[in-house]
Parts: sequence; structure tokens; C-alpha cells
Amino acid sequence: MLLANMTQPEAQDALGRGTAVLVTGSIEQHGGHLPLGTDAWAALTIALRVGERLEAPVVPISPVGVASYHLPWPGSLSISPYTLATLLVEVCEGLASAGVVRVLIVNWHEGNSTAIRLGADRAQQKLPLRVIVAESHVITNALFPDEMEFTHAGSMETAAILAHDPTLVRLGGMADGAAIERATDGHALFRRRDVFPVMKDFREVAAEGWYGTPDSITEERAGEIIDAVAEHIVSAVDEVWKSLAERAPEAGGSS
Ligand SMILES: [Zn+2]
Repeated sequence: MLLANMTQPEAQDALGRGTAVLVTGSIEQHGGHLPLGTDAWAALTIALRVGERLEAPVVPISPVGVASYHLPWPGSLSISPYTLATLLVEVCEGLASAGVVRVLIVNWHEGNSTAIRLGADRAQQKLPLRVIVAESHVITNALFPDEMEFTHAGSMETAAILAHDPTLVRLGGMADGAAIERATDGHALFRRRDVFPVMKDFREVAAEGWYGTPDSITEERAGEIIDAVAEHIVSAVDEVWKSLAERAPEAGGSS
């Protein structure tokens, strides 16, 4: 449940159990067929499913993300990585004072990842809590590589919006996307792990702003996929917290 929908006594109880789910996404162009808030809604719809399973309050910290490279398309918005990192730290301060010691961030936007690490590092240094991150877009692609293409505004993002609110998908407004092979190669350049450029203008990936096959997924299948992503996050989160607890320096040598 959204923290914002709880009353104060409800929130006090829920946060006192120690876990909160934060949400980060983006408001940026996704062609003529998906809403600007695709990344914000995708992250939220997954986070709500995760929060329900973990019985943890869900807190979207900002619908706007770090997306300066989409600004050539009017309607796209961006905050700086420093702003997002600061928001994260300051929200964690309130959560920590309410008793939260475990923060899970559900993200759906590559541009946010660096800022999330920056903010999480600062929060963990200042506050008695730990932060772990679920890159929900990466998970969706990894679990269903044949159906969920790691494009921009293609099948994977369409699935997330179909699962969130199918009325927001407007395939009738779809203009021609970029040639898939060329855009995939362009995106891969920025996704290299060894030597890579930092994204500056998304037109370097796709002049048309998007690529992929948004019309390849049904609403029913989208729901199944997004539920499976939430399930995966919940089990991975459990695994990570357990491993972390076993490896805590204060636990070392005690057995
Ligand atoms: Zn997106």
C-alpha cells in the first residue's frame, strides 16, 4: 500500500516493522503510443505488487528521474543526479526515524542508477539502515528475454503499462520507430561495461525517439509477466537480506 494512503497510526505500525519500498522512474518521451510517465508507472505497478507481498509501505520518491538526454522531446522532464540522490537521503531520514532499517528501491530507468547508488551510499553512511536496489526493467528483460525486449518504448515497456493501466497504451498513435538493429547497436554502446560513453542525447540511439515492437504483447500476458517480476524481486530480496545478515561484521567470529 502507498504510504501516502495510510493514516499516521497505520503508517507508524507498518514502518515500525522495519521495511519500506521506494520507487524511482522517469517522465520522458516514449513515442506516440506510451505515456510520458511510462517509467514512473512501470516502477510503481511493480513496487505495489512487491510492497503487498512484503507487507511494506510503498513510497514513490519522485515521478521525475534523471533523463536529460530525452529533453529534446518536449514533455520530457529531468532532475539532476544530485537532486535525486539528495531526495533519496532525505526521504530515508524520515523512514529511519520511524524505525525503518531495510530500504528496497524499485527502479525502472537506467538514467537513475548512478544517482541511486550515490544516494544509497550517503543514506547508509548517515543512518542506521541498509539499502538494496531492484532494477525492475533489467529483471523483466532477464526473466523473459524472448518476449521482453530491452528497447525504449517497445514490448517490455508496453507490457508494464498494460499491467498498470491499459487505457494508457495508445498503439493507434504509434509513429515509425527507429530501425531496430541500428538502435540496438546504439544502445549497446552506452550499455558497455568496459569502455562506454555517458548518454547525452537519446537521438544518438534512436532519432525517432523509440524502437522495438510494442504491439507484440497482450494485456493478459503483460499481467502475468509483471506479477512474475514482482515475485522474483520478493524472493531475491529475501535471499539478499539473509546473505547480508550472515555476513555482517558484528556477526563474524561469534559462532
Ligand atoms: Zn522507459
